[in-house]
Amino acid sequence: MLYKEYGKTGKKISVIGFGGMRFLKDGETYDLDKCAALLQKASELGVNYFDTAPSYNQHMSEVIFGHAFKNMPKPFYVSTKSNASDGDKLRENLETSLKTMNVQKINFFHIWGVNTLDIYRQRIKKDGAYDTALRAKKEGLIEHLVFSTHCRGDEIAKIVRDGVFEGVTLGYNILNFPFRQEGLKAACEQGLGVAVMNPLSGGAIPKKAEYFDYIRNPDDATVTAAALRFLLSHKEITVALCGMATIEEVIADTEARENIKEFPESKKEEIKKNLSLSMDKLCTGCNYCEGCPSGVDVAKHMLAYNQDILVDRERYFGFMKFHWGLAPEAVEACTECGECEKKCTQHLNIIERFKEIAKWAKEQKK
Ligand code: SF4
Ligand code: SF4
Repeated sequence: MLYKEYGKTGKKISVIGFGGMRFLKDGETYDLDKCAALLQKASELGVNYFDTAPSYNQHMSEVIFGHAFKNMPKPFYVSTKSNASDGDKLRENLETSLKTMNVQKINFFHIWGVNTLDIYRQRIKKDGAYDTALRAKKEGLIEHLVFSTHCRGDEIAKIVRDGVFEGVTLGYNILNFPFRQEGLKAACEQGLGVAVMNPLSGGAIPKKAEYFDYIRNPDDATVTAAALRFLLSHKEITVALCGMATIEEVIADTEARENIKEFPESKKEEIKKNLSLSMDKLCTGCNYCEGCPSGVDVAKHMLAYNQDILVDRERYFGFMKFHWGLAPEAVEACTECGECEKKCTQHLNIIERFKEIAKWAKEQKK
């Protein structure tokens, strides 16, 4: 297993982290021993970053983590989160997480779901959630204060330049990298550690392996291997969080990372070109369409629409709700002026898609 420095924290983190949101149930419930064995096996293989959140797996993820922590083979770091908008609630969340996992401190505590600049401002306002977390840090209950986000790259750049966080967890993968590249670069320049979630675009990449075959280098066995290699060859990225539902997956992911080969620059260029050419139906998140006179955040809606193409409609709605807290019907503000379509690098029929989205939103309300 390879390890990288997480920002300026002095901690060396395994390049593959354990993402605790994909445990499988045995019938109606989770088998705690079986789920805990996944964390323990990952630890044995060198994974030392374990990421969870209070609501993952119907509030069972932290319970599973706590069960596993009774018997971890190697030292480890725990990461969890609070999406509380006020200080009291954050404190309550933190104390619950500490108790549930039976740990003395949270190594990486996330101000969770900072998905717009308004949310960011709200969380860091005086005596709010951030200040409470900072006090808990002084008490030794939190070691490093970080944030997680699905914002655009330019928004992330603004947040990290304020210098209030030690690290960030963001969604970044071979399909959406133009959307957050600016934020990733800024995070690195500011000396933040970076964890990436959704490294396989929520499973869309392995699911559509044939479609994405062009991302493979000749020496990548699978598109999954190529997608992870792409991420981990970024100097800006510390750790990629892999949802590990089976022990085989843990082993395969970890073994695959014994040696990270550089991802050739020429291949990155080829991928960018392919994103523009062969993936003619997909939005690349380049954000060239920004500046809608009616205030529609075109790129976010269009990136969510990708999920309908690649996975299913349900995932589209999930993306809208959890990543951006955007209502699908916000597209109704579109006056069909055509400005965004003129600027779209993929020549996408944005207006038609927005009509479709508006229809889905109506159907969902029925
Ligand atoms: S076509 Fe609609 S979404 Fe695009 S810029 Fe015009 S008003 Fe905005
Ligand atoms: S310009 Fe086109 S491809 Fe780029 S983000 Fe906007 S809709 Fe997506």
